Amino acid sequence: MRRWLAGRWIAIALGVLAAAGGAGGVAAARAAAADDVDARARRLHARAIVVDTHVDAPYTLEKKWADVGERGATPHFDIPRAREGGLTAPFFAIYVPARFAETGGAAREALELIDLTRRVVRAHPREMVLSASVADIRKAKKDGRIAVLMGIEGGHAIEDSLGALRQFHELGVRYMTLTHTNTNNWADSCGKFYLPDFDPAESRMHNGLSDFGRAVVREMNRLGMLVDVSHVSDETIDDVLETSRAPVFASHSSCRALSDIPRNLTDDQIRRIAAGGGVVMINIGSYFLDQAVVDRSKADRAALLPQYLKLKQELAADPKGRDEAIGKLFDTLPRHRTSWTRAVDHLEHVIRVAGPRAAGLGTDFDGIEDPPEGLDDVSKLPAITAELLRRGHSEEVVRGVLGENFLRFFARAEEASRGLAGEAPATAKLESE
Ligand SMILES: [Zn+2]
Repeated sequence: MRRWLAGRWIAIALGVLAAAGGAGGVAAARAAAADDVDARARRLHARAIVVDTHVDAPYTLEKKWADVGERGATPHFDIPRAREGGLTAPFFAIYVPARFAETGGAAREALELIDLTRRVVRAHPREMVLSASVADIRKAKKDGRIAVLMGIEGGHAIEDSLGALRQFHELGVRYMTLTHTNTNNWADSCGKFYLPDFDPAESRMHNGLSDFGRAVVREMNRLGMLVDVSHVSDETIDDVLETSRAPVFASHSSCRALSDIPRNLTDDQIRRIAAGGGVVMINIGSYFLDQAVVDRSKADRAALLPQYLKLKQELAADPKGRDEAIGKLFDTLPRHRTSWTRAVDHLEHVIRVAGPRAAGLGTDFDGIEDPPEGLDDVSKLPAITAELLRRGHSEEVVRGVLGENFLRFFARAEEASRGLAGEAPATAKLESE
């Protein structure tokens, strides 16, 4: 409706100018309209709170240390580019690779990355501030600083311990993605969907959440730790929605209707997450955005099946070496990239399916190797604001997508936690213990 109206006003303006000044007048009016949108976008973006719920800078910095004060510190993130992109609040992913579930040491890896994040933020006290609440984010915006929050990616990080979960919360972790690509001892993952021998049945161990998994979700609600359903199986999403006493979200998933991979959400899932007060934060990896990229990449990887199976078998006893070798093998493939406007298509899809309050951004910068052309790093975020305005969305809707939708959801989870303040810390143990 709004888009139609905006288009109509521009058409009327163009008509009037055309009558007055002919073709030159039309061109001038068009340029003026474009200038107007760009100027509005710049103003809006600078004032808005811009949240990105998934940035993989910590793991990237752990592999190759650099000062985030310097441009190019990681492929997609540093302070100068975050400033250019108007980014208010990135969630740094405390990403614990799936292999730690095999080798042990998952909680230690999470602690290392939390420590790294805190060191990064404390080295730049004028530019960044460690944050853990809606109020912290709003204050950081006022103070002109970047609010850095933390989310654990991969529930195996708690090593089946609610005590560990609580201590991660104490350290400032404010969300947990219940699984990574591995099914853990209490929640099913959607699996390693990108591998050429992917079989979803291999990830189905609990048919969703186990009883202990339900206890984890309930304890997260009590603590005020956001429950993230990115990476989990469809059955786990069902169980989470049934179990959670607070709204839940997807920190970095896109729409299955536009790119059919198990990591993306069905329209029905998007609707149910939104109906509970949750949000869907769009992942901008080209693979997540564009079916053509998925099809091409699948064909590329299928051609490497024999080499892949050989490495998998030969290095079975060495998970780290195996994963590195397989990573290197696939690194030889061409990187297919889609156009950045596809990210906006996904935002619009969520808006169409579940309303304008359900959509946000969880780019997966530094966690993806295929950002779309034109959205190469955090500095490019303002392009999304301009494109949403150009497509006729109101400033209120755009502010929602940029950050206010997430903040509303986060505030509701904080409220749910306050409502559970009288409840004692849970002491459930894993079924097998
Ligand atoms: Zn992820």
